[in-house]
Amino acid sequence: MSEMANQEARENLNAVVTKISAAAGAAGRPDVDVKLIAVSKKQPDDRVAAVLAAGQRVFGENRVQEAMKRWGPLRQRHIDLELHLIGPLQSNKTKEAVALFDFVHTVDRPKIAAALAREFDAQDRRLGCYIEINTGEEQTKSGVFPGDADGFIAQCRDEFDLPLIGLMCIPPVADEAALHFSLLRDIADRNGLARLSVGMSSDYEKAIRHGATDVRVGTAIFGERIVL
Ligand SMILES: *Cc1c(COP(=O)(O)O)cnc(C)c1O
Repeated sequence: MSEMANQEARENLNAVVTKISAAAGAAGRPDVDVKLIAVSKKQPDDRVAAVLAAGQRVFGENRVQEAMKRWGPLRQRHIDLELHLIGPLQSNKTKEAVALFDFVHTVDRPKIAAALAREFDAQDRRLGCYIEINTGEEQTKSGVFPGDADGFIAQCRDEFDLPLIGLMCIPPVADEAALHFSLLRDIADRNGLARLSVGMSSDYEKAIRHGATDVRVGTAIFGERIVL
């Protein structure tokens, strides 16, 4: 990978940070309100290194195995890293996920909630948990349907004692994302959850206007992903 691509990643990062500040300002929110999660999945190592060197410390990955390979060694050198699991979690990967990540955005069924609770106790380490809501009720996507959200949130709190901090959704591509952002916000508000993990490269500024506290931005920083 060329030095030029790395330079570009640094410039992209700065541009995204600037746009986040502007969108937060326009919404009357302090820009420290919004956390930028740089989604490094399927990106070449040197581009990730360039973004690290530029000062970014919060990263998202969607596969436990891939994340361990990349961030396991880097964690030793950067103790201030903050790692977010934003992809589906299988219960047989819970142990590794809890050891590596700081936050998980995809709690979406009792089996996973139970597995996380067990592992938090076993490792005496707790990840900040977001519940994934399938706001578009798409059969092909994971996440709890909106109608089941309140019940599942209560179960995660009462039965599994998970440290819930927010909700996450991925709106259907064909829909107006704002509708999904506000549906998610309603569910979060009535359940006393403060954080909203919404907004990707194509719509993070809009997401901030609709209350996003965590934006997950990949290609707008790193460029196109490489197929592994
Ligand atoms: C890949 C991914 C992103 C980043 O998508 P971009 O369009 O590259 O910004 C965000 N959220 C999730 C859940 C992802 O899997």
